[in-house]
Amino acid sequence: MFDGLMKPASAGHSTIQRGLEAVRRHLGMEVAYVSRFEGGRTVFREVDAPGLEGLIRPGDSRPLHEVYCPHILAGRLPELIPDTGALPLAASLPITRAVPIGAHVSVPIQLPDGRAYGMFCCLSPHPNPSLNARDLQVMRVFAEVAAHEIAREMAEEEASEARLAELEAVMEGRLFTFRFQPILTLQPFQVVGFEALCRFGPEPYRTPDLWFAAAHAAGRGVELELAVLRRAVQAVRRLKAPAFLSFNASPATILSRRLTALLAGLPTERLVLEVTEHSQVADYEALRAALAPLRSAGVKLAIDDAGAGYSSLQHILQLQPDIIKLDMGLVRDVDRDPAKRALAAALCFFARETDCQIVAEGIETEAEFAALEALGVSRGQGYLLGRPGDLAAAQEMVGAAAPMG
Ligand code: C2E
Ligand code: MG
Ligand code: MG
Repeated sequence: MFDGLMKPASAGHSTIQRGLEAVRRHLGMEVAYVSRFEGGRTVFREVDAPGLEGLIRPGDSRPLHEVYCPHILAGRLPELIPDTGALPLAASLPITRAVPIGAHVSVPIQLPDGRAYGMFCCLSPHPNPSLNARDLQVMRVFAEVAAHEIAREMAEEEASEARLAELEAVMEGRLFTFRFQPILTLQPFQVVGFEALCRFGPEPYRTPDLWFAAAHAAGRGVELELAVLRRAVQAVRRLKAPAFLSFNASPATILSRRLTALLAGLPTERLVLEVTEHSQVADYEALRAALAPLRSAGVKLAIDDAGAGYSSLQHILQLQPDIIKLDMGLVRDVDRDPAKRALAAALCFFARETDCQIVAEGIETEAEFAALEALGVSRGQGYLLGRPGDLAAAQEMVGAAAPMG
């Protein structure tokens, strides 16, 4: 009897659903629903009507002029109707006989900004003379809770639309630049490459990992990474050989298999791909397969943030990288913290055994530097050795002694 106008289930859906069931049971009625007004219709969002699912379903809708709501809102019908037969207007509406409706309790859902959103409603095919003002009061409380949930959900939707629009603008307008942070050999003390780090334009400033996380949460992460990467990797052309350029990519972006085309024509043997991912990878076989053409073109593979969590160790075992980047958290106070030193030493030992290189990230103090050097770390990166800077500054540094030296 109702035609469909489906909308996806909402965030506050289950709270409202539980509320509907509680009110319906409390009032001893057969049907409870929350509706919203949309284009001259009332759309049923959540419905609790056990056994009557064929009669009314979430997503169904009815023209407003057929139902009680406009009459209730205009004061022509009361919110509480224990017996529709006792009210000439209710009795005369075709829907009363069609459903049928014997008893009806319905209150408007008003949003905090005053807008009438829809109705919180219970009905029964039979009259229910026991319904009273207290029942109506209970219904009002639940309608307020529903209004609160709906307002929260609408605010969330608005915020996520705004985030999406901002992402869109960033991608279309290429509102990002890059900083290049030097990577040095510790013995001799020389700049040998750079990591490209993205900087997004929109204010307030947010670190790149936050931007990428937000984009991934909105299902646009790979797209954003590729847009950024497309430009980042071009910098390798302008770096003096043999300096290399390290760039970041998540497994999802690697799995998109669009990197090979993106790197075409570049000196791939001077590129390092840093796998940045803190969560588990479901299918290493697929990731290895996607990496294969890149590695055979000479691109080196680095595992970023090693020691930051279980997954980075999994990546190391499964992907057999050329480079392991010790996470900044492990580097911080490595000179004073025996546990960190032990883990860093274990990773250095592992790197030697498997013929891969260690790059320690985020070195900030001379003591950390000395401790890492003593552990046999061959390369480093961090504010002590050089802050991320522009490309011109990066070009100057190649082959030169580091700022600290
Ligand atoms: P990451 O790849 O581990 O990059 C290292 C981060 O540590 C950078 O932060 C860098 O500026 C910062 N850093 C370097 N040395 C020091 C230090 O001595 N002390 C401290 N406190 N920090 C240091 P940034 O640039 O904010 O990047 C954060 C993360 O965002 C990166 O971590 C990477 O996961 C991601 N990211 C950055 N650019 C890109 C990009 O172009 N593509 C992708 N997919 N991810 C990126
Ligand atoms: Mg990195
Ligand atoms: Mg890192």
